Amino acid sequence: MTPDEFRRAGHELIDWIADYLDSGVREYPVCSASRPGEIRQALESVSTSVPATAESWDAVWSDVQNHLLPGVTHWQSPRFFAYFPANVSYPAILGDLLSAGLGVNGMMWATSPAATELESFVLDLLVDLMGLPEHFKGAGVIQDTASSASLCAVLCAREQALEWQGNTVGLARADGAMGLTVYVSDQAHSSIEKAIKVAGLGRHSLRIVPCDLETYAMDVSALTQMVEADLADGRKPALVCATLGTTSSLAIDPIADIGSVCQQHRIWLHVDGAMAGSALICPECRFLAAGLELADSYCFNPHKWLFTNFDCDVFYVRRPERLIRTFSIMPEYLKTAHMDDVINYRDWHIPLGRRFRSLKLWFVLRLFGVEGLRARLRNHIEWAAQFVRMVTSDARFELAAPPSLGLVCFRLKGRSNDDNKRLLNNLNESGQVFLSHTVLSGKYALRLSVGQTNTTADDVRAAWTLVARMADEL
Ligand SMILES: *Cc1c(COP(=O)(O)O)cnc(C)c1O
Repeated sequence: MTPDEFRRAGHELIDWIADYLDSGVREYPVCSASRPGEIRQALESVSTSVPATAESWDAVWSDVQNHLLPGVTHWQSPRFFAYFPANVSYPAILGDLLSAGLGVNGMMWATSPAATELESFVLDLLVDLMGLPEHFKGAGVIQDTASSASLCAVLCAREQALEWQGNTVGLARADGAMGLTVYVSDQAHSSIEKAIKVAGLGRHSLRIVPCDLETYAMDVSALTQMVEADLADGRKPALVCATLGTTSSLAIDPIADIGSVCQQHRIWLHVDGAMAGSALICPECRFLAAGLELADSYCFNPHKWLFTNFDCDVFYVRRPERLIRTFSIMPEYLKTAHMDDVINYRDWHIPLGRRFRSLKLWFVLRLFGVEGLRARLRNHIEWAAQFVRMVTSDARFELAAPPSLGLVCFRLKGRSNDDNKRLLNNLNESGQVFLSHTVLSGKYALRLSVGQTNTTADDVRAAWTLVARMADEL
């Protein structure tokens, strides 16, 4: 591809993306109806080998249109209400494009000072913007996902509990390694269990703390009892993960109360705010995170609800030297000038290499502005509240959990799980909306998550109209 061909294709692609996000995306069924293997088969019908010589951009682009798009689920549809959003925005797309063009690997300060300094600057701005604890300044790092951030927290907590011996002598020889325990609520994200496995602690070290059956928030007295029982048995509690907005119902664990249990027993407190964390840009939502100053680490995903393209998770640690102590490596070929006076992010996470992700976040903050960001989140929260009023004023339905921020969990009242499942399937097969489900207290519930960048009040109303009509037809 020559520079001129790149220019032409690039302009064409930007135009297509602008048309797609502006309105084109509304023309597609939200959830792809593709069957397993169908897309692969279509691609193989074009060719089953790599072309010997260069093809034209037009040939490739036409295959995208004809053979790939049918297999795309349109996460950027304003009627995507499933899971949690994975938002994009024009500023973030430009940031990702510039990052691709610069092609920087910011593994150390010296390999591109701007990448490191912009990242720590932007993450400090977020501390002020979101009212986060002051000690998170100079202590933030961008990770790919909340799963990676939580894994880092688990590894640090493991090392701290083992007096920093695990990484040196290995878990088999580290004193007390067999007795480490980790606590999460029964609503916590599965990434914590995965982190326990990766960290070599074994699933048996995981303690599942029950939740309050009304709110789905962690029962702190149960946590206290479980920690004390483990201590009495000679085990070593290493980490508690509190969730700020659970995946199922956006339940908020009582961080302050959990934090005081952790302080009392010197347990690492990690707070997972993957989705709900973005709400802290709105001062009226900050009460949800009361007690966050007790956290040893905290993460949230701008790639969910802050209009920043996937992937972008922000991870803060109280005293980052513990992170560095856990991950630092120092081969000769990575020794650089100023090494001791700068942040070298390679020691703050698992991979060595890293992209220039702070660009997209910086563009978003500047090109939306604080009020632009807040207005969007407040709209989402308000439209979800309107949906709640429609659910509660229709006798056929009930809420399945207390509504929280942009999320509504609801179900057909007095009907079987199968009926609710059928309603969800019918909604999604219509192609007009995409919702997902969860199970709360053994009951199947539909989840409507309002949060896509371009969703409007009309889209949320249309979702309700469809739900009500399909309930009639059931
Ligand atoms: C979505 C979610 C995660 C996982 O996020 P990734 O960034 O995909 O790893 C973790 N925790 C909670 C509470 C979530 O909602």
